[in-house]
This record gives sequence, C-alpha cells and structure tokens, in this order.
Amino acid sequence: MRIVVTGGAGFLGSHLCDALIGRDDSVVCVDNLSTGRISNIEHLLHHPRFEFVSADVSTELPVTGHVDTVAHLASPASPPDYHRMPLETLAVGSRGTEHGLMLARRAGARFVLASTSEVYGDPLVHPQPEDYWGNVNPVGPRSIYDEAKRFAEALTSAYRSALGVNTGILRIFNTYGPRMRPHDGRVVTSFIAQALNGDPLTVYGDGSQTRSFCYVDDLVRGIVAMIDSTEQGPVNLGNPSERTVADLAELVFQLTGAERTVEYHPLPADDPTRRRPVITRAQKVLGWSPVITDRDGLTRTVQYFRERPEEVLAAREALIGGQLDGTAVLEHRAAEGVTAA
Ligand code: NAD
Ligand code: UDP
Repeated sequence: MRIVVTGGAGFLGSHLCDALIGRDDSVVCVDNLSTGRISNIEHLLHHPRFEFVSADVSTELPVTGHVDTVAHLASPASPPDYHRMPLETLAVGSRGTEHGLMLARRAGARFVLASTSEVYGDPLVHPQPEDYWGNVNPVGPRSIYDEAKRFAEALTSAYRSALGVNTGILRIFNTYGPRMRPHDGRVVTSFIAQALNGDPLTVYGDGSQTRSFCYVDDLVRGIVAMIDSTEQGPVNLGNPSERTVADLAELVFQLTGAERTVEYHPLPADDPTRRRPVITRAQKVLGWSPVITDRDGLTRTVQYFRERPEEVLAAREALIGGQLDGTAVLEHRAAEGVTAA
C-alpha cells in the first residue's frame, strides 16, 4: 500500500512510518517540523519506499499519484505546544484535516483521523466509552486543541456521509515512549527528564488527577489495525491502566533511583480530573489490546533518555520553575492582553 502519514516526523507519526515500512508499505511522510524532528525519521530518509515532503498541511497537501490511505496525525499535541500555537492548532484540525480528506476523496483512499481523548474534555462519565459526548469548555484554554479535534471528527463524519469517503476516527489516549522531546511539557517526559537531571518533579495540583498511559508500540499497532480495517469509529485507543499523577511520579522515582523531591504548581485551568478509556470497541472491531505494562514502557523510555544526556540536560531550563505549565502560559498571554479563559 502507499500510505500518506501527515505529522510523520513527530513522536507517534515516526513510529507509524517505521511500522508501515517494516511491513513493506510505501510511505509519504508530510510534515512542517513545527513540533516534529527530522532526527525521528533520519534512518528512513534514504529508504526506497520512503518519501519526505516538507509542507504545512493547513495550506497544502502536495501529494500526487496513487494513495491507499491518508493517516492524518499532523497537529501539535502537547499542551505547551498548542498553547504556543493556538491558531496553527485550530488550522491543522480544520483546514489540515480537510486537505487530508480531499486527498483521500480524489485518490479513492481511506482516511484515518488521529483524534484524542480530549474530545471528552473533563469527563463526567468515567471511564469513557465512545458514545459519551464529552464535557468541553468551548472558550477555555484547552479549547484550541479540543474543539479543533471535535471539528475534525465532525468534518470526517461529513465526508463519509455526504461524499462516501472511507473514513475512520481514532481517539487516542495519553501515549508515551522514545522520540518524545524531553522538553515537550507532557507529564511522562517532564518527570523522567527532571528525575535524570536531579531536579524536583513538577506536580500540577495535588497530583490526584488521573491519566491512563499507553506505550507507543501498543498504540501504533492499533493505528495500523485501523488503517487496515473499514471501521468508521470512533474507536478509543489507550491503556486502561489508570493511575494518579502522584503515583506516576512515584514510579518514575523507583525506575530512575532519583531523590524523591516534588515541587507543586497550580493545576492548569480545565485540566481533566480523570481519564480512562473503555476499549471494548477496539478489542471487538480491531482485535486490539495493549500488552505493555507501565513499568516496562517507562523502563524503556527512561533508557531512551539516559542514552541522550545532553538533550535531557538541555531541556532543564524549560522544565524547572514550572515554565511549561498552563498557568505560566495563561499569565504570559494575559500580559499580552489576551484573555484565555
Ligand atoms: P507530535 O507533536 O510529536 O507530532 C505532531 C507532528 O505533526 C509533528 O511532527 C509536527 O511537526 C507535525 N505538524 C503539526 N502541524 C503541522 C502542519 N500544519 N503541517 C504539517 N505537519 C504538522 O505529537 P504526537 O504525540 O506524535 O501526536 C500525533 C497525533 O496524535 C496528533 O494529531 C495528536 O493530536 C494525536 N494524539 C496524540 C496523543 C499522545 O498522547 N501522544 C494523544 C491523543 C492524540
Ligand atoms: N502534569 C504535571 N506535571 C507536569 C506536566 C503535566 O503534573 O510537569 C499533569 C497535568 O496537569 C495533567 C497530567 O499531568 O493533569 C497529564 O498532562 P499531559 O500534559 O501529559 O497530558 P494531558 O493533560 O493532555 O492529558
């Protein structure tokens, strides 16, 4: 198959490119490198079945010829990234998604959308099944991401119902692993980098909020299964092993051997209090379940960061003092005269 992966130089996208190349597909990776890195795909650049196209998919998706599937992963995903790029995030969820859908329609290809558990907002139903509609603040600080993805889901659904495009929607829950940037601000990378640098772990709020963390290899198997199916979704993909942020900090202390010091920061506005996927649909329609435990996945991720001490050290300044937390971003934006919430 010839598969277009938008956002293919990012964390998840680059692992997806590897998996597809590994099973003899041809891959066209389209990325503007806004949050991705060429180093994530460097090993693929000279592969005969791999092509890299540098483009902003909100403006254009310059791919010609036969295409079997468009996997649309392009979008900032880390809260500090989307706070930094609010308009770009809304653009790639709306115009970027439509460019992907138009390409799929022209080529008679399948379109797979990487949506998110953020469409459930701060959920009032727990755990979250796909038929829960969510609890999202449409003008809050996270709305740039949440509503972009909700619009992307609506647009994808309309291309299926009105234009007959073969579409599939995945709702991805917190995923982590090698190739994440140590300074990207997400909790797993922040905690590991802080621990390895000997700095306190920055816990937002009292650490009682929960997430369910999925290791990247498991997640990518699910995306590939969705590419291969005709399932329209939405389908949740995530690991239902829910834990508190405080508990994650404890696990990181155990795996790194770092001194147990924690620095508490205010909880960012609209930070979801709990999150856990119901994955019975993924099990049924995709035959998918995660198999990698948090302990195993985190051990592999710690090892990846240990092998890159300079990169981890370079992230130090961004990670200390809570410069990446939502509060700091909100204060910064308020100082510019922008009311974010
Ligand atoms: P990432 O930031 O590592 O990757 C996103 C990639 O998209 C980057 O390479 C970036 O340069 C590229 N990109 C962004 N805007 C673009 C544009 N306009 N044109 C072209 N390329 C663009 O993030 P990730 O964690 O790999 O996330 C990938 C996708 O999966 C995103 O759509 C995200 O919303 C979704 N997702 C991820 C998670 C997670 O926990 N990792 C959870 C839910 C959903
Ligand atoms: N978080 C934290 N310390 C950090 C970064 C994040 O306590 O240094 C918290 C954050 O407030 C949230 C959870 O960890 O409750 C997951 O945050 P992340 O940004 O990884 O993902 P998301 O909020 O998008 O699920």
